[in-house]
Amino acid sequence: MTEALAYTDGAVHVRVPAKINLHLGIGPLREDGYHDLTTVFESISLYDELTATPVEDTLTLTIEGEGADTLPTDRRNLALLAAAELAAYAGIDAGAHLHLTKRIPIAGGLAGGSADAAAALIACNTLWDAGLTPAELDKLAAALGSDVPFCLHGGTALGTGRGEQLHPVLSMGTRHWVVATADGELSTPAVYREVDRLRALGDGEYHDNVDALLAAIRTSDPDAMATALHNDMQAAAVGLMPSLKDTLQAGIDEGALAALVSGSGPTCLFLARDERHAGVLAKRLTLRRVARAVHVAESPVGGAGVVG
Ligand code: ATP
Repeated sequence: MTEALAYTDGAVHVRVPAKINLHLGIGPLREDGYHDLTTVFESISLYDELTATPVEDTLTLTIEGEGADTLPTDRRNLALLAAAELAAYAGIDAGAHLHLTKRIPIAGGLAGGSADAAAALIACNTLWDAGLTPAELDKLAAALGSDVPFCLHGGTALGTGRGEQLHPVLSMGTRHWVVATADGELSTPAVYREVDRLRALGDGEYHDNVDALLAAIRTSDPDAMATALHNDMQAAAVGLMPSLKDTLQAGIDEGALAALVSGSGPTCLFLARDERHAGVLAKRLTLRRVARAVHVAESPVGGAGVVG
């Protein structure tokens, strides 16, 4: 978590990155309805921004950018819910107006909603001078959603439990990606249900060994990384959105070291050898018209932080 740098005019500006899963192992369905996960999270340089401005005693939200007109602006929005939960926990009755600039695709498997919740926690803790400790923010984050604690911290981390238990990972160097945004959304619960359905038919198993991946992260060798990337949700996501198969294959045909569905999809990730290779690959994939939008990005980057 980044400490406050400065803020002027009473407003606090926070930038928060999307997350990808370098490994996503889905365990059996638990009695509480969640799945045990073994996952390696990494923050990627695709950001949402949130500005919190002090107002008398109400909590309001406006949104611009990616999918802005489709998102709720009440407490169904994770950013507003996070602000409300923090106010209740800290016993604060001051208000805030939150303005969200979305660049992370909605329901894209990049944890955009969780990222915005993390951004709101950092912004409001600073705006209201609430003084919550990192441990208290982690606790609120875990109650808001499984990916929210990682979005607070960023970087690279091993996630266990339902993903909210984070363990440090030694990471060297920078990884370069092409991120292809699909035309359409996949609901995370629907992809989990499809994983369970396929498993019941004997199709797919729980991959919980991340040793090769952790070694690749330590050496930052792109070829080792390419063979170690894995997503237990990929078959289910491709089953629900068959066009993803062509998108993934297009990336391999154009020279990506590896192609992977991001989390529950439908965003696709392509590993490049270096920054220049990522640029070339992005141009080729744009010309192939296999995605709604194509971006270059790098990982790991830091988590939610105040930028002014
Ligand atoms: P994850 O990988 O964490 O499951 P995702 O990237 O697939 O998430 P999100 O963009 O987080 O998906 O959106 C999932 C749902 O959450 C959306 O359908 C949306 O209605 C709801 N949601 C609530 N708040 C937000 C927000 N601030 N940004 C995006 N979605 C939000």
